[in-house]
Amino acid sequence: MVRLRQIGSAGVRSMNMIVQPKIKGFICTTAHPEGCMRDVEQQVNYVKSHGEIAGVPKRILVVGASGGYGLATRITAAYGCNADTLGVFLEKPAAGKRTASAGWYRAAAFESLITEKNQYSGSINGDAFSDAVKEQTVSTIKDKMGQVDMVVYSLASPVRTLPSTGELVRSSLKPIGQDFSGITIDVKSGQIREISAEAATEKDVTDTVKVMGGEDWELWIDALSAGDALAPGCITTNYTYLGSEATWPIYHHGTLGKAKADLDRAARALAEPMSAIGGSAHVVVMKGLLTQASSAIPGMPLYLSLLFKVMKKHGVHEGCIQQTDRLFRTQLFQEGDMRLDSDGRIRMDDLEMADEIQAYVKAQWSNVNNDNLKQLTDFAGYKEGFLNLYGFGFHDVDYAAEVEPDVGIAGVISFVSG
Ligand code: NAD
Repeated sequence: MVRLRQIGSAGVRSMNMIVQPKIKGFICTTAHPEGCMRDVEQQVNYVKSHGEIAGVPKRILVVGASGGYGLATRITAAYGCNADTLGVFLEKPAAGKRTASAGWYRAAAFESLITEKNQYSGSINGDAFSDAVKEQTVSTIKDKMGQVDMVVYSLASPVRTLPSTGELVRSSLKPIGQDFSGITIDVKSGQIREISAEAATEKDVTDTVKVMGGEDWELWIDALSAGDALAPGCITTNYTYLGSEATWPIYHHGTLGKAKADLDRAARALAEPMSAIGGSAHVVVMKGLLTQASSAIPGMPLYLSLLFKVMKKHGVHEGCIQQTDRLFRTQLFQEGDMRLDSDGRIRMDDLEMADEIQAYVKAQWSNVNNDNLKQLTDFAGYKEGFLNLYGFGFHDVDYAAEVEPDVGIAGVISFVSG
């Protein structure tokens, strides 16, 4: 088993300690380094077990590489395509009694595991919205990789500091036009509770588009192109979510949905510069999954618990790694046509959107209560997935044993201190 580098990230050795989950609202404030390693190992093993993916990319940049879909894409490229990878993310190292963020441990695990392969791998920890991180990324690509064949934009962030003005802009998860009220499952207690959200103001909408829309994706491609870091034929992807009627009021028809619609605009704007180098820009619709970003969306615990129940029953349940592996093998890097919708987006949510799956979600959406929660939903699976996000709930990790929380990421270039 590959061990994590137990080198104090701040150069100081901290004390070994027992790390247990501490859930507050929809987040867990602790993370377990060994459990995060297990998560990354399982994803690596999944891709390895499916064999090599023919063709490009051989050099890939992933912006948002330490969690959910970004990390899974990096693993798919590194282990399926044997690609050199550069990952950009924003994570916190351990400090004193505070564990590092889960994404920090996952990035550390990836860098430890990849050393067994003869491929370049680099990590940049800093604010991807900033000019400084873009410049550092371009110079690292020039220095270590020459150019990249694929740029994956997989950021999920609640805030953005605008590089032009220094203004801090916040995204919101609000309905548009009218207030929203509904129910969700409280992840800590496992009980149904009511939720509500006020209708967004115009500023909420424009700010959310600034944070989660396509502008920063375009700035990345501009910076990479100006630095001659994009190889001929380079492709770029950005992940979106559409979902179904159940989540539309708060997601697709809400502030975040507007930001996601802006990705379609950005993809059209990027078509020209990308085709000038023989490449292309794609928005990819991924399925709804449990990640740190999605667990913050009101109502998602209920929707995903119903979805997991019915998708597992039909044998079509997928996690991030199954989605990105299938994206590479069946859409991006295969001979036939891609599964595009009328807006030109690649659809990876085909199994989620199947009639028999959505019929179950729709039929049970209003029926779930505290008495039938266990029968109608897979909240147990949701809760396990939630704990896994933070490195907990892995059966072969000894959570009663002390661990060194201060783990270093091999070779990381950091713009952030503890
Ligand atoms: P995640 O929370 O698991 O990962 C987010 C990543 O962004 C992390 O690597 C984090 O470090 C990085 N990040 C955040 N702010 C940053 C900053 N300022 N600078 C650098 N890095 C930063 O999120 P996810 O769910 O994998 O989401 C990734 C993309 O996939 C998003 O666009 C999301 O909308 C989309 N998506 C998610 C789902 C889902 O169900 N989770 C479904 C479809 C599409």
